[in-house]
Amino acid sequence: MYCIQESHLLQKTSPVSIATAPAATQPHSKSLTIPSKVESTESGTVAESYQLCAKVSAAISTCFETMEAGDFKDFAKAMTDYIAEYLENIRDRQVVPSVKPGYLRPLVPDTAPEKPEPWTAVMADIERVVMSGVTHWHSPRFHAYFPTANSYPAIVADMLSGAIACIGFTWIASPACTELEVVMLDWLGQMLGLPEQFLARSGGEAGGVIQGTASEATLVGLLGAKARAMQRVKEQHPEWTETEILSKLVAYCNKQAHSSVERAGLLGGVKMRSLKPDNKRRLRGDILQEAMDEDIKNGLIPFYVVATLGTTSSCTFDALDEIGDVCNSQNVWLHVDAAYAGSAFICPEYRYLMKGVEKADSFNFNPHKWMLVNFDCSAMWLKQPRWIVDAFNVDPLYLKHDQQGSAPDYRHWQIPLGRRFRALKLWFVLRLYGVENLQKHIRKHIALAHLFEKLCTSDERFEIVEEVTMGLVCFRLKGNNENNEELLRRINGRGKIHLVPSKIDDVYFLRLAICSRFSEERDIHFSWEEVKNSADEVLAQK
Ligand code: PLP
Repeated sequence: MYCIQESHLLQKTSPVSIATAPAATQPHSKSLTIPSKVESTESGTVAESYQLCAKVSAAISTCFETMEAGDFKDFAKAMTDYIAEYLENIRDRQVVPSVKPGYLRPLVPDTAPEKPEPWTAVMADIERVVMSGVTHWHSPRFHAYFPTANSYPAIVADMLSGAIACIGFTWIASPACTELEVVMLDWLGQMLGLPEQFLARSGGEAGGVIQGTASEATLVGLLGAKARAMQRVKEQHPEWTETEILSKLVAYCNKQAHSSVERAGLLGGVKMRSLKPDNKRRLRGDILQEAMDEDIKNGLIPFYVVATLGTTSSCTFDALDEIGDVCNSQNVWLHVDAAYAGSAFICPEYRYLMKGVEKADSFNFNPHKWMLVNFDCSAMWLKQPRWIVDAFNVDPLYLKHDQQGSAPDYRHWQIPLGRRFRALKLWFVLRLYGVENLQKHIRKHIALAHLFEKLCTSDERFEIVEEVTMGLVCFRLKGNNENNEELLRRINGRGKIHLVPSKIDDVYFLRLAICSRFSEERDIHFSWEEVKNSADEVLAQK
């Protein structure tokens, strides 16, 4: 119980005990004193000011009926047991709940409780209120989108991060928060085989930072590129106004790039051109070069390119090496978005897909997708962070400190000011799994995707839409889109597994992503049976 007695706030004369404070507001406080003698002052009576003091003191000395360490330990232990049970038996839950919008409101009171409740009451409501409406992303039967990571070490790290609860915007705001992040991003960069020019240990300005999401990283890259281009063009054309220069800037991406890339263009107030990929959905160097030549001819200034390694729709890889040559020759900032597939580069056999990465200015992937580090943890490296750090430097006195310049102040590397101690998650996961087991995790997912691909190709009614390189299989029933739309409706309607579709060049297909760290061969066979049985139903109807 946390009690403060601030009796020094009161000037004591002849004391009168206040015993009338409502029990609810000061259930355990000792009695306070005010003087009995009342004098008039210009602004009111002395008694009034004593009463105010007494109220302040009463508020300070209030003991909250909240959780003590003993209760916390019991609650946390109960929750740990619950979490382990939940995850180990997640396969048995219905992957998508059958609740309807608005299901939750009737399950909870209309207003927050006035009085504290016991933690056991909260525990008792988790299944009823929460789990009844949860989509189980970590079920081996969840195959939608891309995976989102989940591991015990990361969950425990999040507990510690919650306990430390620092906001590491500057080095001094919590030196360990910044320094562990710097080192973890070096560890991670080496695991991926990133060139030294990206790493802090190279001794230059380069280094990594944990952003919340890949979307933020793309925007941060764009803002850096914009700052660099603005400075260069201003030097070349001092007569041009900023608005004029801004209106000429143009960025590029694959038409198959994630929607967050287009959004980064909108947020950054610049043109973003989506370019047509080749017949394997890869953005190629010649297509990019052609687009830039055309834009330059029309007086525009190419300044930023996003290359995607592992597109969201079908997990294809832009020709980074070719794109890198074009960008380097035009002094254009190249950002790599490897949100999902980047994790696979910890396995050397997949690094051919990032050939040319040394030509990039920034690189990003999400350990929170496929590397067992719970959301949010999006790793970004910048060769020249100065374009972000200096261009958007707002430096109020209250954020300054004596060590400025000797270590990164990560507030300058990102959009928000506040940041959590996310490096703990990386540290715990990397240490408790070891690179070896993380590689096994990636390889197993890819092998399971190939198993599903094999099952699919063994049924002549189906076709594979895109080459399977990672843990994603894009497939469809041969024939029209309508049958495939109906197939997906049936699969999801049966409620045993969950998939989402995509469409490229008017061809509608289904995406089956291997998402769960609990996925086994038998789960893939189960999912295939679901797909096959649903297809039987669709085709029987025709
Ligand atoms: N880029 C790609 C290629 C993606 O696949 C995704 C999400 O799946 C994103 C960006 C967006 O990721 P985030 O949610 O971390 O912003």
